[in-house]
Amino acid sequence: MSSKHPLNAKAFVANDERMHWHDKALWFVREKRDITSKTIPEWEQLREYANSIKTHTMANLDKYLIEFEKNAQERGIKVHWAKDAQEHNEIVYNILKENNAKKLVKSKSMLTEECHLNPFLINKGIEVIDTDLGERIVQLRDEPPSHVVLPAIHLKKQDVSDTFHEHLGTQKGNYDPTYLTRAARANLREKFLSADAGITGVNFAIANTGGVVVCTNEGNADMGANTPKLHIACMGIEKIIPRLEDLSVFTRLLARSATGQAITSYTSHFHGPVSGGQMHIVIVDNKRSPFLKSQKYQKALNCIRCGACMNTCPIFRRSGGHSYEYVIPGPIGSSLATFRDPKKHKTLSFACTLCGSCTNVCPVKIDLDSQLYNHRQDLTQQGIIDSKKKFMLKSASWLMSHPTLFDIAGKIARKVVPLLPKSILYTKSNVWGKNRDLPQMPKNSFKELYKKGIEDDK
Ligand code: SF4
Repeated sequence: MSSKHPLNAKAFVANDERMHWHDKALWFVREKRDITSKTIPEWEQLREYANSIKTHTMANLDKYLIEFEKNAQERGIKVHWAKDAQEHNEIVYNILKENNAKKLVKSKSMLTEECHLNPFLINKGIEVIDTDLGERIVQLRDEPPSHVVLPAIHLKKQDVSDTFHEHLGTQKGNYDPTYLTRAARANLREKFLSADAGITGVNFAIANTGGVVVCTNEGNADMGANTPKLHIACMGIEKIIPRLEDLSVFTRLLARSATGQAITSYTSHFHGPVSGGQMHIVIVDNKRSPFLKSQKYQKALNCIRCGACMNTCPIFRRSGGHSYEYVIPGPIGSSLATFRDPKKHKTLSFACTLCGSCTNVCPVKIDLDSQLYNHRQDLTQQGIIDSKKKFMLKSASWLMSHPTLFDIAGKIARKVVPLLPKSILYTKSNVWGKNRDLPQMPKNSFKELYKKGIEDDK
């Protein structure tokens, strides 16, 4: 089934108050990003560095992955390779099974979301507890995260309170965030202490040290990786950076772009198992390597998942992360999803105003708006877009390539449209008219005004 972004977005905007609240909440984060980024005079230089480090790494990914594996093994870490989601899930399950691990605590990892690890393990009888607060909230509600950094941004404190009341037994109607956070912490602490294994994601994997770095604001990755004796870190192949010295370029950009903080509260380095324990790293491809061959879309692999493109995107802010029906929503998710499965995600690249705001804020300078524009061309050439849209675009293209007819059509429209009854203008086929009123028709076309020397049209 194909993604239904327009229908999902329609459902989201139907709740006007919630839509505006979501919009404002994300814009608040975007403004914080602007303020902190401006405290660094060399901000633009850092973005350039980050872009060139990533571009260099992707061009030499095979070399750096092998270097990383060798150095990690020398540190006593077991390295596994998975070609797809299924293999990834089986590797993780087998490690747990070999260690008789039945209870698992997991910190934020979009890769494990992408691989649907939770349902896979739960089906095998493993208890899986997400430990990032936002992820725990959506897990209790049986929902996917709606944002890569703020997984429960679509929920208000009242929603969280109701969820906790139902699942954790908190007082009904108590919306106090401190009370709710304490209740979640008490519940999670018990889970950490009884866990047999901890899974973390990976923000950066350093080739020349063989270690991985995980950034969190809650310290939950550290608890999960250090309390049980078994730590499994799951990463996509694109998480590699060449040297430890490169790390500061990314850590300075990541937190500021994500939440407007100068640094994430915990930037934790894992360079080997805990004493007497085991550490495993699962390196996953899952449809990443085809990006390396694509000139148009390769840069999508450079993403460090800061979420800045989502916070700034006018469509994301007004349609919510779930409307994208893809594990990574927003501008970067639209590009990744469309490249991986154009038929299924054919509506996403059209859910874009091409305003370019995402490209302007992206800390690693991914050409997001160009990618979405290119996807539209590709979808059209592949004949994947909807027949109605195709007909409209073809007709418009034909009319625009015949200037005299275009002028005549404009003249007729300016005269006739204002006289038409609403029932003819706002039909089912005119989707643009659903939430919009037609503007007043100008007396003259731009061309006529230009010829006259652009005088007042009133
Ligand atoms: S595409 Fe850029 S802005 Fe968007 S999440 Fe990735 S790194 Fe951040």
